[in-house]
Amino acid sequence: MATAALLTAVVLTAGLACAEAVTVQEPAVTESPHELLVRHLERQGIEDARVLEAMRAVPRHEFVPESVRAYAYEDRPLPIGLQQTISQPYIVALMTELLACAPGDRVLEIGTGSGYQAAVLAEIGCEVFTIEILAELGARAAKTLERLGYDGIHTRVGDGYQGWPEEAPFDGVIVTAAPESIPEALVRQLAIGGRMVIPVGPTGGVQELLLLRKLEDGNIDEQAVIPVRFVPMVPR
Ligand code: SAH
Repeated sequence: MATAALLTAVVLTAGLACAEAVTVQEPAVTESPHELLVRHLERQGIEDARVLEAMRAVPRHEFVPESVRAYAYEDRPLPIGLQQTISQPYIVALMTELLACAPGDRVLEIGTGSGYQAAVLAEIGCEVFTIEILAELGARAAKTLERLGYDGIHTRVGDGYQGWPEEAPFDGVIVTAAPESIPEALVRQLAIGGRMVIPVGPTGGVQELLLLRKLEDGNIDEQAVIPVRFVPMVPR
């Protein structure tokens, strides 16, 4: 008799444990693709909390064509038409971190593309001036940014090699297409103490991502960060 009672108790306990396991699993929260991407960026070494917050806030899927939307939160570049690409999220986060802009800083971006990088900078609180050479892409990006409510971003269709002299100097300059050498006008338009993040190197090859700083005496401090591959910054 005692054995039977014991057996019943074990079965009951097992039954309860089972029921518990089911109720614990049901409401399990699945992490959003945004959140998974941000965790991945942290593991890759992105540390700046403001950058991670901005990456979490901007809906990358709104900046890519319908056909590749399913991959919007994967860490890879995606085509945006006209043979151009939206950069890999890690590169966007790294360049934003290197630029180290603070809320209220004025930042010049060369290569608007989809408008995604500009949106990330705007989330941090920077006033963004962005130039795109392809009219169709520039117009599309301006529309996307307006629709999403990023009204602190100034867009222009034109040649990035000239910069935006009427709005200079800039606290930061970020170049998201690769020139073969550092464009002089962009260095001129950088404020003392300002930073420029720019990939420099041969078209179609591997470029070096550079961090430049304009020192008090006007000289430029240059630091190579990592090898990268960007679409070319085309001359006009
Ligand atoms: N920052 C973009 C990705 C840039 S792709 C994003 O977040 O989506 C590089 C862009 O630079 C392309 O759209 C290309 O047309 C543009 N570009 C190339 N040469 C340029 C130039 N001389 N001036 C301005 N934009 C240029």
